[in-house]
Amino acid sequence: MEIEEIVEMDEKHFMNVYSGRYPLYVEKAEGIKIYSKDGKVYRDFLAGIGVNALGYSSQRFKAALKDQIDKIIHCSNLYYIEPQSELEKKLCQNSCYDRVFFANSGSEANEGALKLARKYFKKKGTNKFETITADKSFHGRTMSTVTATGQDKYKKPFTPLPEGFYTVPFNDLEALKKAVTDKTAAIMLEPIQGEGGIYPAEKEYLEGVRQLCDQKDILLIFDEVQCGMGRTGELFAYQNYGVEADIITLAKALGGGVPIGAFMAREEVASAFEPGDHGTTFGGNPLATRAASEVMDIMLEAGFLESVKEKGIYLRAELDKLVAENDNLLETRGIGLMLALEFDQSLSAKKMTNQLFERGFLVNGVKEHTLRLLPPLVVEKEDIDLLIKNIKEIIAEK
Ligand SMILES: *Cc1c(COP(=O)(O)O)cnc(C)c1O
Repeated sequence: MEIEEIVEMDEKHFMNVYSGRYPLYVEKAEGIKIYSKDGKVYRDFLAGIGVNALGYSSQRFKAALKDQIDKIIHCSNLYYIEPQSELEKKLCQNSCYDRVFFANSGSEANEGALKLARKYFKKKGTNKFETITADKSFHGRTMSTVTATGQDKYKKPFTPLPEGFYTVPFNDLEALKKAVTDKTAAIMLEPIQGEGGIYPAEKEYLEGVRQLCDQKDILLIFDEVQCGMGRTGELFAYQNYGVEADIITLAKALGGGVPIGAFMAREEVASAFEPGDHGTTFGGNPLATRAASEVMDIMLEAGFLESVKEKGIYLRAELDKLVAENDNLLETRGIGLMLALEFDQSLSAKKMTNQLFERGFLVNGVKEHTLRLLPPLVVEKEDIDLLIKNIKEIIAEK
């Protein structure tokens, strides 16, 4: 197809939910660069929204996928699937959890976690079904997860919403305590809020939430769909805090670009699910689990996570320098390679994103005055230097 036809078909036939796509006509990618059909090249500091953790050129990852395609892509969960068992083993042996369920997306992983929490208390014979989440959170697009999401714009168009969901300010333990009732089944939080603008939880807050959940018999769910899988320089974000949730959800980077989601729990919680309680057609299929299994092998190799930490510190320091030099820049936030640069009212994140796009960089204006960076975890210092140089020039132009 010619570029004109691609655009025409999209405008004519695709549901109108991604209006204003950037004029990048994705053709192929290499390293951390995406090539457009119009000949332009972009350094990707968004990584498919935190998905392409290995960038685009891991030969090892590609070889594993090709090998798996030749063997089998999909079969049902009626049979034993070796890559699935491999992935189960790797996830459980490297976390505090005993059991996992494989879904296809972050929303689905959260949906499953919420179902597990409800089933857990139903099985106990209690009438606990409510879920408390945080303002500015994002948990997905299905009816329950959009309801759990603490941002009105995502859910207003879809009322009436499922019942039993409440939101409170993030990092505010007192507000959470007040919202708990004898019907509260779960508290679901992102250890680092992503779509809300990159807001890390405070350590004392998560410790307090853990304590509250223990005292009141509430299940704590960590949505690590964006902040998990190496993004923070730890395999899981909770490992930065030393606080363990009862259920954790994963997706985005888990499959390195192949769609897969997961939720995990300890035996005591997981055992609430009985045969028939939950299931999926695609979830955990041979291709997706083989992909995730290879992603985990690569991330667990000596030095990989260490290098994420180092590059995160480097990028953060470079951004901090910009903040120190410019009155229009207020602060940086985040952990590892999940970072935000906050502008004052005079700078638009959308405009900055457009200007960087023109210069060949993909970033995300996650809020009006907040720039979000989620580069591939294999980003190099030279790429970071180039990005910083270009942000500097754009600010100087203003
Ligand atoms: C992206 C995201 C989701 C939703 O994932 P999908 O794969 O788009 O359904 C849920 N929670 C968090 C924290 C996310 O960042």
